[in-house]
Amino acid sequence: MGTLTELFAPDRIAVIGATEREGSIGRAVTTNLIADFKGTVVPVNPNYDEVLGLPCVEDIAAANADMAVVVVPPKIALQAVEEAGKAGVKNVVVITAGFGETGGDGASREQRLRKIAETYDLNVVGPNSLGIMSTTTGMNATFGPDNALSGGMSFMSQSGAFITAVLDWANDEDVGFNDVVSLGNKAVLDETDFVEHWGDDEDTDVVIGYLEGISDGRAFIDAARKATKETPIVLVKSGRTDAGAQAASSHTGTLAGSEQAYEVGLDQAGVLRAESVQGLFDAAQMLANQPLPDDKEIAIITNAGGPGVMSTDAVGDSRLSMASFTQETLDAFSEQLPAEGNIYNPVDIVGDADIDRFADALDIALGDENVGMALVLSCPTAVLDYQELAEATVRLREKHKKPVAACFMGGERVTAAADILGEAGIPNYFDPSRAIGALDSLAAYSDIRTRKYDEPTEFDVDRDAAREILSSVNSRDDNRLGVEAMGLLDAYGIPTPQGEIVDDPDAARSIASEIDGPVVMKIVSPDILHKSDIGGVKVGVETADVEDAYEDLITRARNYQPDADILGVQVQEMIDLDSGVETIVGMNRDPQFGPLMMFGLGGIFVEVLEDTTFRVAPVTEREATEMTEEIKTAPLLRGARGRDPVDIDGVVETIQRLSQLVTDFPAILEFDINPLVATPDGTGVKAVDIRLTVDPDQL
Ligand code: ADP
Ligand code: MG
Repeated sequence: MGTLTELFAPDRIAVIGATEREGSIGRAVTTNLIADFKGTVVPVNPNYDEVLGLPCVEDIAAANADMAVVVVPPKIALQAVEEAGKAGVKNVVVITAGFGETGGDGASREQRLRKIAETYDLNVVGPNSLGIMSTTTGMNATFGPDNALSGGMSFMSQSGAFITAVLDWANDEDVGFNDVVSLGNKAVLDETDFVEHWGDDEDTDVVIGYLEGISDGRAFIDAARKATKETPIVLVKSGRTDAGAQAASSHTGTLAGSEQAYEVGLDQAGVLRAESVQGLFDAAQMLANQPLPDDKEIAIITNAGGPGVMSTDAVGDSRLSMASFTQETLDAFSEQLPAEGNIYNPVDIVGDADIDRFADALDIALGDENVGMALVLSCPTAVLDYQELAEATVRLREKHKKPVAACFMGGERVTAAADILGEAGIPNYFDPSRAIGALDSLAAYSDIRTRKYDEPTEFDVDRDAAREILSSVNSRDDNRLGVEAMGLLDAYGIPTPQGEIVDDPDAARSIASEIDGPVVMKIVSPDILHKSDIGGVKVGVETADVEDAYEDLITRARNYQPDADILGVQVQEMIDLDSGVETIVGMNRDPQFGPLMMFGLGGIFVEVLEDTTFRVAPVTEREATEMTEEIKTAPLLRGARGRDPVDIDGVVETIQRLSQLVTDFPAILEFDINPLVATPDGTGVKAVDIRLTVDPDQL
């Protein structure tokens, strides 16, 4: 796969399957290309000498093209792509449908398409694509009804129909694009390729996308992190993928859905996620047209009290905060505003404000060093002209180079003013919360740009020992392992309580006598998922009672499940739970993003509490630390209500070490350490119980 520069800026485009037949896709694509394309369009069709006034060639070899659009029926589409490859064409857009989306024959056709692309090193868009556009070259290689206006957004969509709807709207609103791509089935080129390309593309100011899935989550994260240093990415992601969903046998597996993976994956990638199509374009246009704020403090200037309060509420829901003005600013407002006004934020310049008072107030606010951005909020009055206010807003945005949004409320009388604002890239919304939302995305992107992505810590571990323990799954009928695999934790430096698994009562007693104080005893069987549910965990057993406890545990397990594979009983040091906190550290492998780490409040009520947070592995120290700060019950870890803070460093290190283990071994499908007991600061952590599933074929 080569660079995508030529895909968007070819000199000669061949339309394989071009025709004049009314209502055909071949005609639509050829017509669209002829309309504005600055290069040459070459129809390819052995049945005609001429198509829509252009000379038609017999085959692609005769077209001498550097890009081909394939619109022939599915049965001959592969042949067309292959001939293009043979003819040395490197960029192919396959509009033809009837591939993977139809299953059966179509799916195998898509496989073969991939093979051909590999053989001839082709950039292939689609199949089942609406096509692509690039306004720099005037290329509209789609069968959609509209061409795009030119602008700074590059847009990819997994739905072709959505593109036609967006363009229809955008043309009305004067919203322009640089490149537009209908991804289709993503057989070869996918979102990651376009993010990489647009990240380096001078003409792309913002990347926007509508995605239903991400083909390779980790690759996407890496590409997006790079691209977003220069170019913001805003995505709407719809749909829930169940692909590869497995019947989870761990807590983490139950709690980690693919929605979680997308949420944290896209966040770790530095992508802004919009909740709606409106949110997508509000954010994208703001990012394309406005300077980035130096800080998140906003000034709101208004001639109306009520909307001022509404916008203050919206600020409360965002990452922005209301700026507190310098004394100089407050003095200036006192002098300028009537006594019934409000010199504090939101600044109420009162309903009788004329253009001079409005403009002066905005000038003062934007000039304040504590102010990073402003919202101009106005209701119509008899003494104020919206067009004049729009001109002043544009002028002052230029003067202060700080982002500004407008809420000129009203109907008909707003139109001309909104045009003036729009020209200058200042959005005008009726609803203050929309304006705050759009400004919020600027602040979000500022944060992303300054993010530091550090490398995960590499701990010194014993991989061979871990592999050996994982291989024990080969002797099992299913793919589960439990505490008999605790050695994995030793191999990866995760602390465990003193203890051992034994298979007779005498041995149990001798282990117990080596341990100070009463012990904990548990049944060991990979077939018993939740030991305490069947009374398989005995806490606080005195040495004298160990043998009885042993027999009792075995009996309980046999009664519960006669054919269970019982490996013995674990005798374990008792951890002081009164001064500690039970946490859970886990991993579930997501089909798109790979290992998804979970941290949360642990113990036997994990699913009930659902107090968890996620990251795609490998996690860095910074990310692991964030995880321990994000859960709702984080104050418990830091020592709430007179309790001592627990050893958070130990938790952070355990998250990282488990992250390294599951990254090293893709065979590990799920992993729970539950509980990981964190005891008072300085005393460390203990992984008390584990459960995992392993795919033996990947070992
Ligand atoms: P399971 O999750 O299969 O029921 P666990 O080993 O996690 O089995 O034990 C269940 C609960 O028993 C733990 O959440 C913890 O509250 C308590 N427990 C288990 N082992 C210990 C121990 N060594 N020290 C203190 N409490 C323990
Ligand atoms: Mg447990």
